[in-house]
This record gives sequence, structure tokens and C-alpha cells, in this order.
Amino acid sequence: MSAPTIAEPRQPLPLSELPGTLGRARLEQFILGLFIVVPLLAVAAAAPVMWGWGLGWHDVVIGVVMYAISGHGITVGFHRYFTHGSFKARRWVRIALAVAGSLAIEGPVIRWVADHRRHHAFSDRDGDPHSPWRYGDDVKALTKGLWHAHIGWLFDIEQTNQQRFAPDLLADPDIVKVDRAFLRLTGVTLLLPPLVGFLWSGFTWQGALTAFFWGSLVRVAMLHHTTWSINSICHTIGERPFKSRDKSGNVWWLAIISMGESWHNLHHADPTAARHGVLRGQLDSSARIIWVMEKLRMVREVRWPSRERLATKLVRTS
Ligand SMILES: [Zn+2]
Ligand SMILES: [Zn+2]
Repeated sequence: MSAPTIAEPRQPLPLSELPGTLGRARLEQFILGLFIVVPLLAVAAAAPVMWGWGLGWHDVVIGVVMYAISGHGITVGFHRYFTHGSFKARRWVRIALAVAGSLAIEGPVIRWVADHRRHHAFSDRDGDPHSPWRYGDDVKALTKGLWHAHIGWLFDIEQTNQQRFAPDLLADPDIVKVDRAFLRLTGVTLLLPPLVGFLWSGFTWQGALTAFFWGSLVRVAMLHHTTWSINSICHTIGERPFKSRDKSGNVWWLAIISMGESWHNLHHADPTAARHGVLRGQLDSSARIIWVMEKLRMVREVRWPSRERLATKLVRTS
């Protein structure tokens, strides 16, 4: 008599995987490095350029508008909508949000969402792709951890398993298309400001050049560091008025530039809420935009935080 066969228990999908070959993964890391370093050098060069001939109000307008479009594409689109499902959107709005977020050059939408869902599933514990507490909590370990949470994690060769963390987006042909168009959209977001600068300045090359510097390079660098600050700074310091399982904090001085995302303690306490700045005086431009889109019937079923629900999560009000 043969021994009864025992069915293998189904293994859960791994947390991360190596996409393509090792060589390809390394090439991706190299290109990513360029996109981080070049805008940073641009910022370093910004001050002397600014005091000379190279900054006009055209550049400021182009830079701020591009920052607002690509930034809210990340906060409203990639984060509150695609990652957390804080509201439902019409098809064209869904596609527009995916495109707008791609203009921030923070990676293709499906990868961004998979990483961020994994962050919430394991926040500040083993498996979190970017916790500043990864190496321990003494000064040396935390310094290393802050670097890892801010930029270092992007260079992990292994990537979050998209099949496990974003199967809904992989099943959506519209979103897959936008995801695959990432490099082309990177071209658009870098070339649009100089094109507008060229036309607006009356077809001058200087208009194109300064708009490229401020509206493309400086804008992308600022947005990158703001987003990464949520992962590093907002998981290290800040007020923690709400109950959450991790070390997420509210950092008020990042509120405007992060478009409301630095109210990160509330976000971890209530991840699907469409508003993160829920307490008095907490500016949250992303929530305001969702509110306007709701009024215009572009989105529906918005998960606004209710007073009762917040009261159950509040630890202290100071
Ligand atoms: Zn977080
Ligand atoms: Zn989140």
C-alpha cells in the first residue's frame, strides 16, 4: 500500500523578485542613479544661476505648475487612489491620474503602488521596503537607516513582487499601457517645460534653457526629495496623535510642499482615508483637489474620514 500523498501547502508568493536578468536590473539601477544625481547637481548649481540672468517669472510659473501636476499625480493618483482606493474614478480620470503621476519620474505606476502597499503591510517591520529603523535604533544604525529609507532602498536589486501586491493594476489594460509608457512619459515631463519656455519667451533659446533648468531638473529633484522625506523623516520624527502600529509621524513643516502627505501618522492610522490632514489647521491640498473632483463628478464614493472613526483612533490632541 502506498503512503497517502499529502498535498503541498500552497506557498504564498515571495515578497520580492528579480525582474528580468541581473544585468538588466543593474542597468536600471544605473539609469535611476543618473535621474537622481543629475537633478541634484542642478539644484546645487541653482543658487549662482538664480542671481545672474537665469530666473524669470515664466520659469517660476512653469516650475510651480509642473510641480503641482506631477506632485498631485503622485499624492492623489498613485497614492490615495491607486494604492489605497480612497475613491472611485471615471475611466478617463483614472488614466489621467496614472499619466500625471508618471510625470514625477518616481517609477512606473504599478511598481510604485506595489512598493507602497508592501510598505503599509510591513510598516517599520521586516519586509518594509523603506523603513529608517531597519538597522536598529542607535544613532549609527538610524543614520544608516535614514539614508536607506530616503534613497538607498531604490537601489535594492530585488523589486517588490507585483503579482502579489498589485494584481488589480496588472489586470487593467489601461494602466498596464501607462505603466509601459513610463520612459516616453519621462521624455514628455522633461521636454514640456523647455518647449513652453521657448514659445512663451518669444522663441528664444534662453527661455527654453532656463525653463528646462527650473521646470524640469529642479522641479523633479524637489519632488523626489519631498516624496522620499515622507519615507525617511515622517517615519522618524513628528507628532503621533493617532494610534498606528509603526513610527509614522505628522511633520507640519512639510505639509505644503508634500501636498498634505506629511500628515503621515493619520495616514498610517487610517490608510484608506482621502484626507490626511484631518485636524484643525492641517493643510492638505491633495484632499482639496479630491473634494473639487467630487463636486465636478469626476470621482465618487470618496472615503472622507468621519468624526466618530477619528475619535476611536485619536490618542491625544496636542
Ligand atoms: Zn509610511
Ligand atoms: Zn500610503
